[in-house]
Amino acid sequence: MSSILLDVAGVRVHFPERGGSWFGPRRTIRAVDGVSFQLERGESLGLVGESGSGKSTTARVVAGLQTPTAGAVRLHGQLFGPRAPRSVRRHVQMVFQDPYASLDPRRPIGWTVEELLAVHGLLKPRQRRLRVLAALDACGLEALYVHRYPHELSGGQRQRVAIARALVAEPELLVCDEPTSALDVSVRAQIVNLLCELRERFELALLFVSHDLAVVRRVCEQVAVMYLGHVVELAPRSQLFDAPRHPYTRALLAAIPRGDPEHPAPHVALLGEPPSPMHPPSGCVFHPRCPRAGDVAGERCAREFPKSVERGDALVACHLDQP
Ligand code: SF4
Repeated sequence: MSSILLDVAGVRVHFPERGGSWFGPRRTIRAVDGVSFQLERGESLGLVGESGSGKSTTARVVAGLQTPTAGAVRLHGQLFGPRAPRSVRRHVQMVFQDPYASLDPRRPIGWTVEELLAVHGLLKPRQRRLRVLAALDACGLEALYVHRYPHELSGGQRQRVAIARALVAEPELLVCDEPTSALDVSVRAQIVNLLCELRERFELALLFVSHDLAVVRRVCEQVAVMYLGHVVELAPRSQLFDAPRHPYTRALLAAIPRGDPEHPAPHVALLGEPPSPMHPPSGCVFHPRCPRAGDVAGERCAREFPKSVERGDALVACHLDQP
């Protein structure tokens, strides 16, 4: 049996502009524009990039919450999405950024965590309760929390409940969308450590969306860098952080503050703001901001979209890095 758990192939998500334009036809927002990657069992992949790069939309497609406009997501070789049978969908669970918004304020924690088992028709009521207690325990919450309500918990405890709820159905893949960014700095490390522990203990695969590169470095073995709906570089963690190839990856890494003033990060200029996904630039979508675009002859960067090619263990989409 293939070890490939998740296969994301050429996924596009295009939305019509909400409300339309005053002076013309409705434009199309190209949130995700041809994203491909694979995940093996127990593997972790980080999706990084600026706001609007399409990483959260990609996560929603992988979690089966959003139907792609084109392309396909397969789980164990079977098509996966909002219409997949519940028995298949339970294998992929999502943890959201804001734990307070993702929990029902009117329901006690035990009910919220158990609900997922009831929705999927899993186990008998007594077994469900035991499973709920085990999931809470795995997330560092004692049994007494089943009677508490979300407003009685701290932000970190709420995120532990959200993780327990995702875990209770014994998924194979956990999709985490900025799971620590709404939390106080003091509890972020605890939640990151918890996710690492759970991944190892339950052999979970992890798709981890974050703009925090330090957290991604801690959690993920592979990292995909997204820009304006495209994956521009996908590489093993050590290669991506120690020897980034794509000019955008280099610029992102150079923007991380370093504690050591003796060894500051090399300066890589990133010009202006990311363009709108309604008006993606021609050719390489990064070319209006790329400090290396002038190094490619014949203004090729502005004319031709660079294909993603294998460079060692990495996949890179840049005209400067073709074989
Ligand atoms: Fe920069 Fe050109 Fe490479 Fe795009 S293809 S990243 S514009 S050098």
